[in-house]
Amino acid sequence: MADPDLELITKASELLLQNKVPESFWESISKRCIACCSCNFTCPTCTCFDVWDRKFPDSIERVRTWDSCQLDGFMREASRHNPMGTEESRTRRRIHHKLAADVERWGFKTCFLCGRCDDSCPTGIGIKSVCREMVAACS
Ligand code: SF4
Ligand code: SF4
Repeated sequence: MADPDLELITKASELLLQNKVPESFWESISKRCIACCSCNFTCPTCTCFDVWDRKFPDSIERVRTWDSCQLDGFMREASRHNPMGTEESRTRRRIHHKLAADVERWGFKTCFLCGRCDDSCPTGIGIKSVCREMVAACS
């Protein structure tokens, strides 16, 4: 029997790869993101991190911590230019990266449908929820 979640995410991936998802869709979805980063921090395939220096009286420690593509500063460049400077672009990237960009780059989606982002998102825009709305709106 076909897996309905797999069918859903495959359809959403096709819509993204065919550029059939309008900006207005991302505007609407992104209004519901409160940038808590729970989706990224619970996802087994999210790997982005930040590097910074902690100062102590006699030393400095370089540390690596999780980062999130849902935060405004995530892609800000040294010049202060931010190619992902809007909520819409960041929300779009979160979904597009796993279902389209990685398909083009690696030949497979990098969402394994574990459901953690849907379980942890306080505003109901985990990846499966977004795909459900996308397929309903854009098919
Ligand atoms: S459902 Fe996909 S995007 Fe969401 S946490 Fe699991 S692997 Fe990550
Ligand atoms: S868990 Fe939901 S509200 Fe929090 S950053 Fe992710 S999409 Fe936004």
